[in-house]
Amino acid sequence: MLTRTLAKNKRIAMIAHDNKKQELMEWSKYNKVTLQKHEIFATGTTGNLLEETLDMRVTKMLSGPLGGDQQIGALIAEGKIDILIFFWDPMAAQPHDPDIKALLRLGVTWNIPIASDRSTADFLLTSSLFHETYEVKIPNYSEYLKRKL
Ligand code: PGA
Repeated sequence: MLTRTLAKNKRIAMIAHDNKKQELMEWSKYNKVTLQKHEIFATGTTGNLLEETLDMRVTKMLSGPLGGDQQIGALIAEGKIDILIFFWDPMAAQPHDPDIKALLRLGVTWNIPIASDRSTADFLLTSSLFHETYEVKIPNYSEYLKRKL
């Protein structure tokens, strides 16, 4: 197993589907002081709302359906995102469903903490690990890369 050290200040990606944006903003407002100590990345529309809610600069990607989820996924693959908070909507089909699946897959591929709902986000944010350095164990993909074709 390889490891990657997460600093005390985390790089957090945040995304909410339209029916979940209000919930994410309520959660963010409640946790504003804590979140302000970290670096926030977001898909376009979620990012605009977060900047207002958190009163801080957010690194914004394209809107999710226009490629923003894939941009966040690429950052995860490059080791540039530490935590994903993604309130996806279980009750509405999304035009960019393949992108959502790809993003969630990359989160697991690189073993980053993922919260898909508010309860899990509460547990994550109140974990002592959230506020300390942490060694993420990265699965060793070298055998896969060396495979004979
Ligand atoms: P949005 O994208 O923040 O631009 O609305 C979210 C998504 O649907 O992935």
